[in-house]
Amino acid sequence: MSKQDSQSTREIRINPIVPTESVLIATARGMRPQKAEEITPRDTRMHVDKCPFCHGNEDKTPPEIMRFPENGDWSIRVVENLYPVLGDDREKAGLVFGVQQAIDGYGRHEVIIDNHRHGIAIHEMSVEHLTDLFALYQTRVRQLYESDKRLKYVLVFKNFGPAAGASMAHTHSQIIALPVVPQNLQDELSHSKTYYDKHHHCIFCTLIDEALTFETTIYDRESGEVVRRINVGQYVIEKNEHFIAIKPFASRYEWEIHILPLVHNHDFLLTSEAQLKDLAQIMKNSMARLEAVIGGAQYNYFLHSRPHTDQYQDCAESYHWHIEICPRTSIPSGFELGSGLFVNTESPEYAAEQLRSVTLEHDT
Ligand code: AMP
Ligand code: ZN
Ligand code: ZN
Repeated sequence: MSKQDSQSTREIRINPIVPTESVLIATARGMRPQKAEEITPRDTRMHVDKCPFCHGNEDKTPPEIMRFPENGDWSIRVVENLYPVLGDDREKAGLVFGVQQAIDGYGRHEVIIDNHRHGIAIHEMSVEHLTDLFALYQTRVRQLYESDKRLKYVLVFKNFGPAAGASMAHTHSQIIALPVVPQNLQDELSHSKTYYDKHHHCIFCTLIDEALTFETTIYDRESGEVVRRINVGQYVIEKNEHFIAIKPFASRYEWEIHILPLVHNHDFLLTSEAQLKDLAQIMKNSMARLEAVIGGAQYNYFLHSRPHTDQYQDCAESYHWHIEICPRTSIPSGFELGSGLFVNTESPEYAAEQLRSVTLEHDT
């Protein structure tokens, strides 16, 4: 699809996994209710004397939890967060006041210093380093679940750039272990289970199959009439042996990318080392594509996988772990807050074509 075609898109797209989450695709210029996020130059320095996350300043962080490699100079380090949002070690029952409820803010908040080099971007890291980083995510998530039954969900995420909420320039990810399974994950789990019970197939696998199919047809829900035939292969950005990067049909963010394992798997912790290498490769390439197309992307990514709690034992067939990359190119306005609709001013088909067409430099 050309840019010209994409300018006329105005439609509400329903998230196929969580139907209550909808997106308004509104690409015509005059309809833009959002203000564009300003691009701030990336801090590309490799070492900053005063940065608490740089080599030599290990005493500027709270106690270290782990480092990689264990001996010699570290390249990745996990530390307790100096200002944790959760972490109080009290065990109290949830508070109730009339219809108001509160759950104790118990949990863990840790910082993963992704790389000892201060301003290195993900696409500049080697596949080997990124494989080590994802393996470390696995180790720490596993340890946290095993350490304490009160931790119901361990969320791994990354903020990069002020527009994505990052307060530290040194490249880092975070882990927050929560006393509850977050509502958006509960919604994904329950909706995918409902789909599985009805169709005996994982909805994420169905979406991958559709993305790999050349063409599909959209029918009107009520009349059953053919509304449109679309080339769905156009939502694939890249694929390797074990992973696929897709542009969601109902993308909330202009340059959003989702990465999923190609073979059904509900649990990130079951991902093998060979698979982690492919994950590292596709993450590096996705970031390189974003860099080439929008330059200096400020983004969040987060990992959704099965919660290791008794409550979600039956999601092995229906749930499918994945990473969502959400570049923050615009500031949500009152319309988003008031309507609950995400406004996306770029056609997902056009964005997918732009991302897919990037010629990547050969990996080092
Ligand atoms: P972000 O705000 O996404 O950039 O995340 C940076 C995190 O690092 C925040 O959650 C801070 O609380 C945390 N932080 C800031 N300074 C330190 C420090 N010296 N040691 C450990 N964590 C820190
Ligand atoms: Zn630094
Ligand atoms: Zn699946």
